[in-house]
Amino acid sequence: MHTDSPPTTRVLYLAGWGRSGSTLAEGMLDQVPGLVGVGEIKFLWERGLLQNRRCSCGTPLRSCEFWVEVLHEAYGRIPDDDELRELDEASRRFRTRHLPGLLLRPAGHTSRAELRWYHEALSQLYRAVAKVSGADVVVDSSKFPSYLTALLQAPGLDVKVAHIVRDPRAVAYSWQRHKEDPDAPNGELMPRMHPGCTALYWSAWNLATERIAHRAGLPYLRFRYEDLIAEPDATLRAVTRLSGVPATAVRVGERGELFVRRTHQVSGNPVRFRSGAVPLRLDDEWTTGMAPRHRQLTAAVTFPLRRRYGYRDS
Ligand SMILES: [Zn+2]
Repeated sequence: MHTDSPPTTRVLYLAGWGRSGSTLAEGMLDQVPGLVGVGEIKFLWERGLLQNRRCSCGTPLRSCEFWVEVLHEAYGRIPDDDELRELDEASRRFRTRHLPGLLLRPAGHTSRAELRWYHEALSQLYRAVAKVSGADVVVDSSKFPSYLTALLQAPGLDVKVAHIVRDPRAVAYSWQRHKEDPDAPNGELMPRMHPGCTALYWSAWNLATERIAHRAGLPYLRFRYEDLIAEPDATLRAVTRLSGVPATAVRVGERGELFVRRTHQVSGNPVRFRSGAVPLRLDDEWTTGMAPRHRQLTAAVTFPLRRRYGYRDS
């Protein structure tokens, strides 16, 4: 049956700056009936398909049964390398890390005609994810505020924004640490960043997320990583309600562990490879491990947004 407008696909966009716990939050949301967490879809073309990195199920993406079925449903085949490069090139337009650009870029502006094919391709992809998974809502943890504008231009997507924030001092400390990335080609470590730089990005990124969601009139909920760990059930219920599916209790074990099934997340923090009983523990190593001058710098640069999000001075 042919219809002029495609059916609506519901998308819960997990926004927030890197190392704020979005991958863990997505893995938790994936446990909720009706939701499917599929990682940072923005990186599907490059890291997922061109580089054939591993899906969180452990299989290289081109061999992952879930993604192969999604791509066949969306496009009838896996796009060839030239097509993948074009898709990646288009998504890079929505990947700005330029700080003024993050704050000034208008939300939901008119689609450029030459990118219409890209927005159609996104629409087909999210629709296929929903169909193959059987979920009511697709959870995308791409996080970039700029990529959110790409989703707003894709026809037939009903987008809601769940914005995760974390204490900027914990985030800055995480960006300082040497961390292995089991998924990186050539055994590279995860990227690192100076606390001053992290603090600037944390502020600009979070402000841009709020601004884009507000200007586009999107349903929006901000939640704190610390609350997700301390009160997982209540926090997940609130996010689930935003997504539009009935909130159900999430099973937390006696020792505070969460039972996570295997997911099919593209890219994201290495925590996505964990399944089974995952301990929910607040990583507060920064409170003892972070150099005082870095703490003070981060606290100063992120004030007053930090205070508005409920993170005190000490
Ligand atoms: Zn997979």
